Amino acid sequence: MPIRVTVWNEFLHEQNDEKVRAVYPLGIHQAIAEFLGRDAELAVRTATLGQPDNGLPQAVLDQTDVLLWWGHMGHQLVDDMVVERVYQAVLDGMGLIVLHSGHASKIFEKICGMPSHLLSWQERGEGERVFVINPAHPIAAGLPQYFEIPKTEVYSEYFSIPAPDSLIFLSWYPSGEVFRSGFTYERGRGKIFYFSPGHETYPIYKQPEVQTVLRNAVRWTARTPNAPRIVYRANTPVLRPHADMGENR
Ligand code: ZN
Repeated sequence: MPIRVTVWNEFLHEQNDEKVRAVYPLGIHQAIAEFLGRDAELAVRTATLGQPDNGLPQAVLDQTDVLLWWGHMGHQLVDDMVVERVYQAVLDGMGLIVLHSGHASKIFEKICGMPSHLLSWQERGEGERVFVINPAHPIAAGLPQYFEIPKTEVYSEYFSIPAPDSLIFLSWYPSGEVFRSGFTYERGRGKIFYFSPGHETYPIYKQPEVQTVLRNAVRWTARTPNAPRIVYRANTPVLRPHADMGENR
């Protein structure tokens, strides 16, 4: 069975900004879907903000093992009902990969439980060195110790997030800033990965190392097969002592 992937994009910059359209003529979602779709183990579809139900009706989430999320200027346009639906899907086991400025999306803030939109940023077109600081993590598989993105938007600390369950990437910039650029959370049955590189005016999603990160992340965040169902009970049955236990005291 392939992993069912939905790439969601607000798809606003590409329609409003010539500079962005030059990099991603069909939209960031199509660029990501294109390289993920080359992987025979993935079944990839796309969804965008402007579609009915913001592209994410329950029927789509029910058939999604991993949802990728790229948003920036349209965070407030995402319907609260849709955010709640995505949140519940994550708690029930759907993987979520939050990209770049998605750190300020309603869904990521809900996952974080605090205002995760707070960080410093600068667009100077400088480079980024992305260090793998947890080489044992499956999302780092196949990567070198670090890789470089020639032109990026600088995101820098302090980044107002709860301590990650696993911190995988740390970025450094020539101007001296650092940033926790890739990390995970687990919530309920669901796994979440955040990855910061991906500014819309640079071809970052066309870079092989970035594609490796996202391919790995899709596999890692995908539903855990046979994950225990979460059941809330008033009374958990009492553990019955083994018959022999009395004699051994
Ligand atoms: Zn950006």
